[in-house]
Amino acid sequence: MTFQGSGGIDGGGVGAGGGGGGGGRIAMGGGLGLVVTLIALFFGLDLTGGSGSSSLTQDQGASQSQLEQHIRACTYEQANAGDSVCIIAATADSLNAIWPQLLNGYTKPQTRIFSGSIDTACGHATSAMGPFYCPADQTAYFDPTFFAELKRMGGSDGNLAQMYVVAHEFGHHVENLMGVLAKGQRMGNDGSVRIELQADCLAGVWAHHAQEGTGTGYLKPITDEQIATVIQTARAIGDDTIQGARSNPEGWTHGSADQRVRWFQVGYDSGELRRCDTFATNQL
Ligand SMILES: [Zn+2]
Repeated sequence: MTFQGSGGIDGGGVGAGGGGGGGGRIAMGGGLGLVVTLIALFFGLDLTGGSGSSSLTQDQGASQSQLEQHIRACTYEQANAGDSVCIIAATADSLNAIWPQLLNGYTKPQTRIFSGSIDTACGHATSAMGPFYCPADQTAYFDPTFFAELKRMGGSDGNLAQMYVVAHEFGHHVENLMGVLAKGQRMGNDGSVRIELQADCLAGVWAHHAQEGTGTGYLKPITDEQIATVIQTARAIGDDTIQGARSNPEGWTHGSADQRVRWFQVGYDSGELRRCDTFATNQL
């Protein structure tokens, strides 16, 4: 058991497949020629925006409506039993309950659960990229089959580890609202590492507060064993884990395993947004 709630999950802003109305937002973001960067969990990917509309095949349409039904039927009991779709929905609901208390002017991102591939305002994306956030349509995207992949990579598919992934992507949304995302993206790989470590820290801030409140969307007290699953996952998606311990740190985009763990813990231990300013230190 992880969430305190029972029964249906509110699921505001969580839906299946594309259709977040991203096209208009591309124009608002800067119009023609804008390169919109998609922020992926462990890959550094640049995609050019404006992929245009694509028609769903019948298979994709069917799986999208099945996903939509699955999301609508989600309960906290299912989330606590390890149903990844419901964990994403419940965690998104929790994040949207907690962040407004921590950040003035917080607005909800959209959350899209998809299968296989999806068109976004940041371009066409596939499950192989892992979970990601697109600032141009302010949407966090998840393919729930990713968690099995994460386990193959050496991460954990424990409930809190899955929530950490969701909270990390929402961390990018918080960074977007604060203007940090755009700043970091102008700084190349060093900026990317700072963005990613800050998102890990913000995920920790959420976890800190999620276990203190009561009511739906909040967690039971987090155990050391649950934290260990987050640490295992953060290590698995460290650049030195993925690219090799001897890889050149200048090519890193997300930070080392040690750094990702450290920044999650900074946020988790303090619960303070201001402690997550990875741009204000040379001690990453
Ligand atoms: Zn990220």
